[in-house]
Amino acid sequence: MSFDAIVVGGSYAGLSAALQLARARRKVLVMDSGQRRNRFTAHSHGFLGQDGRAPGDIAADARAQLLAYPTVQWVDATATAGKGQADEFTVSAGNGAQYEARRIILAAGVVDALPDVPGLAERWGKHVFHCPYCHGYELDQGRIGVLASSEMSMHHALMLPDWGSTTLFLNGAFTPDADQMAQLKQRGVTVERIPVAQFSGAALDVELTDGRIIPLDGIFTLTRTSPASPLGAQLGCAMEDGPMGPFLQTDMFKETTVPGVFACGDMARATGSVALAVGDGAMAGVGAHRSLMFGAGHG
Ligand SMILES: Cc1cc2nc3c(=O)[nH]c(=O)nc-3n(C[C@H](O)[C@H](O)[C@H](O)COP(=O)(O)OP(=O)(O)OC[C@H]3O[C@@H](n4cnc5c(N)ncnc54)[C@H](O)[C@@H]3O)c2cc1C
Repeated sequence: MSFDAIVVGGSYAGLSAALQLARARRKVLVMDSGQRRNRFTAHSHGFLGQDGRAPGDIAADARAQLLAYPTVQWVDATATAGKGQADEFTVSAGNGAQYEARRIILAAGVVDALPDVPGLAERWGKHVFHCPYCHGYELDQGRIGVLASSEMSMHHALMLPDWGSTTLFLNGAFTPDADQMAQLKQRGVTVERIPVAQFSGAALDVELTDGRIIPLDGIFTLTRTSPASPLGAQLGCAMEDGPMGPFLQTDMFKETTVPGVFACGDMARATGSVALAVGDGAMAGVGAHRSLMFGAGHG
């Protein structure tokens, strides 16, 4: 089967990219493995017009609207390999099928590597978060923690007092210097140097290695991120180093360094959100359409 474009990843960025191509009556295949990054949380915040909705409901509505266009096909599958060049790409799927397309849009998102502390992973998206803009407001100016994962966590610790009374758990990740301690003091942040043994309780109790238990309403930690799919690397796309991890390098039309391969959403930005993924996807869809009309690599 041959398509104008294959979109790898059918979440916010991929759906948005596919929508632009569908509206140009182009033949699009969306391939999706159903593992949205925010699947751990019950509510999505900060996306205009959809604030507080279940993340899966936002994606399901978008998918239903997209699939109403007759030139769009959908396959529930994982893209396992990509090869070729502009106008003659082949994408292999985990279901054994192969699909051909003139353009590829990578919208596969990222995976989060969480700090290795017992009890943290099962609270991810419920009481443990990475983005204050997404989940800070709902903590109702309560007791907030920052679990340090590197010196980058200074940034988190200095931001979070706007959302509640903040304790920075250093957990051996870094040692603030005198200047950093002064900044933390000026923002009213409590600094806890004793390491965290585990997270426990029905909600969020932080158990320290000295036996103390500190109850919190929520805690924020920075994760290391990496692209959820190896297709960009397989196709030869260049990466950039971001503060959270590597992401695919793109130009203003979201074309990667490989002509005809576009990338959008979390896997093609230093940091992401639903709103940014949707905007990014729209640009990638338009970019891929331009390239179908005017040639690849002319972004
Ligand atoms: C716990 C948590 C809570 C969050 N809360 C919010 C919030 O409240 N508001 C907000 O704006 N943002 C929030 N985010 C961030 C938000 O989830 C991401 O910015 C957003 O999902 C990025 O969209 P995307 O389309 O780029 O990637 P994703 O939504 O991650 O989607 C990628 C899609 O590609 C698919 N895929 C991956 N590899 C393949 C492959 N090889 N073949 C086929 N398909 C593949 C995946 O299955 C998935 O469906 C949260 C993130 C986390 C972790």
